[in-house]
Amino acid sequence: MSDILKTEAVVLHKIKYGDTSIIVTLFTKDYGKLTAIVKGGRNPKSRLGLIVDTFNYLQIVFYKKDSREIQLISSADIISHFPNIKKDLECQRYAQAILELVKNLNVEHEVNRKLFNGLIRIFSLMNESKEPAVILFARFFMFFLSELGYQLQLEQCSSCGKKELSKSELSYNYELGIFCSDCQANVVESFHINMELFAVLICLKFNKRMEQVNNSLIEKAISFMEKHLKHHVPDFKGIQSLSLFNNLNSK
Ligand SMILES: [Zn+2]
Repeated sequence: MSDILKTEAVVLHKIKYGDTSIIVTLFTKDYGKLTAIVKGGRNPKSRLGLIVDTFNYLQIVFYKKDSREIQLISSADIISHFPNIKKDLECQRYAQAILELVKNLNVEHEVNRKLFNGLIRIFSLMNESKEPAVILFARFFMFFLSELGYQLQLEQCSSCGKKELSKSELSYNYELGIFCSDCQANVVESFHINMELFAVLICLKFNKRMEQVNNSLIEKAISFMEKHLKHHVPDFKGIQSLSLFNNLNSK
């Protein structure tokens, strides 16, 4: 027996299957991440095949059978397809990086509504260009680290407990957290954090506004979070969507 279920979903990834079908990885609101097939989805006349596409935010109906690894989508309606994200190459690149993080690091079938809502919110903000895509991505990444259980420890020095950290050079140790200038000599530094970078990290973590921040500083914050995640998740090889683009740019 299979259950007929309805939920909201974001299409994280899509591949061709057989001669006519598509298989998608979905992040759903009520059932977490799952894999599903759209039979005949590559037929140009298939409305369902067109709708079930990467980035799209959908209301879906599917047949769920726990003994089966791939579920069957029977119908879908678009809630939003974030048209402005798809129009802008830079925006698309960062949105793709978000899908990649959720696809590769989120555990199958684990329900996380906070993460689901966070994903929809960041895509909506990107679609409306509320802030540059690089900043919105960095905000999502910081939030995502917390959801995975690897949040950055920035509130106080891990050794002496000092809370006023914004006015000096700092050291971060991936296992232990942040260290003030007085204590950093006693710890192995995983990443050096200067005052400018610390200010950006605080804005990202506590969702504060950012005034006139240059992109290279945001990219540095992203690189720091990426290294931190690599340290804690050895299987994680970095964000491919971002590195591919960098390679193309540097040619
Ligand atoms: Zn200290």
